[in-house]
Amino acid sequence: MTGTAGLVEAGLVPPDAALELRAVEENFRIRIPAHVREQMQAVSPEDPVFRQYVPDVRELDHRPEEMDDPIGDGVFEKVKGITHRYPDRVLLKPTHTCQVYCRFCFRREKVGHPEEALSADELEAAFDYIRANEAIFEVILTGGDPLVLSDRRLGDIMDRLGTIPHLGVIRLHTRVPLVEPDRVGAALVAALKRAGKAVDVTIHINHPAELTEPVKAGLALLADNGIPLLSQTVLLKGVNDDATVLAALFRGLVANRVKPYYLHHLDKARGVSHFRVPIARGQEIMRELRGRVSGICQPTYVLDIPGGHGKVPIGPDFLREPAKGYYQVTDYLGKKHEYRDDG
Ligand SMILES: *Cc1c(COP(=O)(O)O)cnc(C)c1O
Ligand code: SF4
Repeated sequence: MTGTAGLVEAGLVPPDAALELRAVEENFRIRIPAHVREQMQAVSPEDPVFRQYVPDVRELDHRPEEMDDPIGDGVFEKVKGITHRYPDRVLLKPTHTCQVYCRFCFRREKVGHPEEALSADELEAAFDYIRANEAIFEVILTGGDPLVLSDRRLGDIMDRLGTIPHLGVIRLHTRVPLVEPDRVGAALVAALKRAGKAVDVTIHINHPAELTEPVKAGLALLADNGIPLLSQTVLLKGVNDDATVLAALFRGLVANRVKPYYLHHLDKARGVSHFRVPIARGQEIMRELRGRVSGICQPTYVLDIPGGHGKVPIGPDFLREPAKGYYQVTDYLGKKHEYRDDG
């Protein structure tokens, strides 16, 4: 469903709430695919799936510290659709639309605008940029969501990237396998394979309720076809700011052959303060997870430094150096141990 009218029709919001939500919709589009509706267990902001996608009037509450471009994508936009911040990798954004609009989206000022999609000429200029920069090893297809593109268009992009010798890896960042699992099929796999290079898929997932049977089947198809799967999760108040929820999520991912990659601290996009979790709480959760789930289940907790300065790990500190060469190490139970660096 799309728009406030769709929300009312689906019984997700009462008719009298629709009026004020229309102002929210003017800022950021609303779209909830049928499968997402099925992932909701309750029609309530307490429900972790509902909360991610059903708009809230608090989105109109803009704080002074919030920004249009919280991670500085624009600063490093070299040609339209290419963000080149780190020497060895670029973001390529062929489209700015998504199958679902996450209410906490960090690119919400850009995302949801079909007119931002690259034209054929602009896409060509983006390929030229990548071809001319031999330091680029990895292309990350993002947006928007690259899997809103048809298999034919995606296959064309893969063909073109496949001809660039210095590229080693093509990565896709997507929510589609979770929100529209039917999209994942043999034709998609064939399109991805056309690159003739390593293609990784990173899924954006925030709660174990999103790992439904159809979603698992899609992930299995990708994994069976040799596509490495990674995940990224945003730490969100009322959705997953809890070690038990995240332990279940990361175990569920590993059991479905997805390696938890990043746990993102929420970026300072406009109107997302109701999702904000303090860093200290994020670190506490990560500390708790350390002892609770295996190493494979541990993502890196990262902050994208505002202004475009890149991502840095901000997980809890297990090591202190009170005097030169003398360390204090904290174990997973919180007990402190001395360690002397010999040599
Ligand atoms: C997040 C991001 C990347 C990818 O970073 P990794 O740490 O390799 O996942 C690359 N470029 C930009 C601009 C990014 O924001
Ligand atoms: S899928 Fe990604 S880009 Fe699209 S709305 Fe959600 S967070 Fe934003």
